[in-house]
Amino acid sequence: MSFSDLKNFLRPDQMSQSPQDLEIYGKDWTKHILTRSIGVVFPTSTEQVRDLVLWARENKTALVPSGGRTGMSGAAVATKSELIVSFEKMNKILEFNSIDLTVQCQAGVITEQLQNFAKEKGYYYPVDFAARGSSHVGGNIATNAGGIKVLRYGLTRNWVAGIKVVTGQGQILNLNNSLVKNATGYDLRQLFIGSEGTLGFITEATFTVTHSPKDLTVFLLGVENLDNVLNIFQAFRREIPLTAYEMFTDKALACVLKQGHLKNPLSAACPFYVLIEFEHESETTMDQAMGLFELCLEKNWVVDGSVSQTAQQAKDFWRLREDISESTAPHQPYKNDISVRVSDVTAFLTELNQLLTTEYPDFEVIWFGHIGDGNLHINILKPPSLSSTEFLNKCHKVDQHLFEMIARFKGSISAEHGVGLTKKPYLEYTRSAEEIQIMREIKKVFDPDGIINPGKIFDPA
Ligand SMILES: Cc1cc2nc3c(=O)[nH]c(=O)nc-3n(C[C@H](O)[C@H](O)[C@H](O)COP(=O)(O)OP(=O)(O)OC[C@H]3O[C@@H](n4cnc5c(N)ncnc54)[C@H](O)[C@@H]3O)c2cc1C
Repeated sequence: MSFSDLKNFLRPDQMSQSPQDLEIYGKDWTKHILTRSIGVVFPTSTEQVRDLVLWARENKTALVPSGGRTGMSGAAVATKSELIVSFEKMNKILEFNSIDLTVQCQAGVITEQLQNFAKEKGYYYPVDFAARGSSHVGGNIATNAGGIKVLRYGLTRNWVAGIKVVTGQGQILNLNNSLVKNATGYDLRQLFIGSEGTLGFITEATFTVTHSPKDLTVFLLGVENLDNVLNIFQAFRREIPLTAYEMFTDKALACVLKQGHLKNPLSAACPFYVLIEFEHESETTMDQAMGLFELCLEKNWVVDGSVSQTAQQAKDFWRLREDISESTAPHQPYKNDISVRVSDVTAFLTELNQLLTTEYPDFEVIWFGHIGDGNLHINILKPPSLSSTEFLNKCHKVDQHLFEMIARFKGSISAEHGVGLTKKPYLEYTRSAEEIQIMREIKKVFDPDGIINPGKIFDPA
């Protein structure tokens, strides 16, 4: 059997082997991984996905689930002549339930499409991040995407009421049926959330939506040192339920400003910037926030600051943080996305700062993060003088130190980007050998032939 046999159950416009398509659909945002695939297919229904899995089992062909390809760990990259299964044509919103407050979607619905649909219905879907315009809801579930509102609303996991999946055995399972309460044994839905497409395909999902936040205000503050980044966080969080608390460095800001679309609203140059967002829960919230801002000035925790006066200004402040990934992308950054407990953030960041200065003296390191939930993104920009291989080798050497430090803090080597291919060699720094073995055994139950996204997260034993 060959690729062309798929014509038995797919239309010609649902199959491609063009070099251009293989290049586009074979990779995610990790541009340095070499891709190799036998073709890409575009199913339009759960039943077609099931037929593909049954075909793949019979033909011993591995399959790679592909969403919006905004992943940053190589989990959607085909490297071993797999067949890529793209959810691009399964992009319909199926139903809104105004009593359950749920939206049922096909897996290829774009995250922003779900956000906009919820808004049209007068509600809010709170999982949000810079790739919202390209990532798929299926990909969000497979990576348990977090983003900028985790502090208040949690991760994708918190919003998934039910999913329909096709396992690696070819079974179609409806998991949880959108029940709020369901105490009937293992919640298999949760296993698929964050599984990076290794157990099977998510073909549909039902998401909970919530009430829209009342007017949001954003503070942008310039800060002298890391201790104060944390002091400000604690002072604000104690009194106001924050929707976001983000931090970025002067170097990260410089990359964004270099693009020429935005201006720095602060006049004083500072090594660190924090962005604080909160909702006007009551008439006194703004007075409380201004009081806290003054306290921070009095204590010299803040060097300079600005408060958004309009929704547009709030958006522009956010872009200073959200455009970092895009503005650094041309420098082929080597990325680490790590986390520690919030209570360990100060100690961890201080050690990390030392490590980065001593180990990367010649590299430009851009760091920023969702400090409010202990998550930091570290991006090392590739110097033009180094080849990709030389650059990667140097980065991997420092990874060893970094991950040892994370293990000491009992943190995670991947906070929200997943393990995929790039973090696979380091999984043991966060997960014990016993845990990894149990994960392998769980995979075998769902995917006995090892054909669903093989070699991602861990290798077979
Ligand atoms: C600029 C930028 C900013 C980002 N910011 C954040 C952030 O703040 N927080 C965050 O968590 N992530 C962030 N990301 C990472 C990325 O956007 C998320 O991981 C996102 O959820 C990936 O969705 P996707 O559809 O692009 O998935 P893909 O990259 O296509 O795939 C990711 C994984 O999901 C699997 N998969 C995809 N669809 C399915 C399916 N239907 N069934 C089973 N498995 C499937 C793939 O096999 C792969 O393992 C960012 C990315 C970019 C480019």
